[in-house]
Amino acid sequence: MIKAKCHCGKVSTQATSKIISQFLCHCQTCQKICGGSRLGGLMFEDEGFSVSGETTKYEYQGGEQKIESHFCSNCGTPMYAYPKIAPGKVVLKANSLVDSSVFTPEKSLFKEEACPWDKGLV
Ligand SMILES: [Zn+2]
Ligand SMILES: [Zn+2]
Repeated sequence: MIKAKCHCGKVSTQATSKIISQFLCHCQTCQKICGGSRLGGLMFEDEGFSVSGETTKYEYQGGEQKIESHFCSNCGTPMYAYPKIAPGKVVLKANSLVDSSVFTPEKSLFKEEACPWDKGLV
């Protein structure tokens, strides 16, 4: 089981299914949404993913389809997202992991949009 928690501790999540994919996304949207130079994402089946605590939902256009992103309503930590392009799947944001060592990204997306100051450090 993979557990995640926001900074203030009011929102926590648990994923019991296997990780489908793990990636880093360097796109400019993820930089904004995650407040850093890149997003770490772990994709799971939504079945077996549970959330406790109150989140704020923000929906935006991510490429051709919408993405519904959830943040802790209290501290704003980016927690997870539902990409409409992948129905039934949820993407957990690696920044929220309780044990960050479970995240072993397999690929980098949108490297061309990476922050100039971040290149070569991955
Ligand atoms: Zn919080
Ligand atoms: Zn991205």
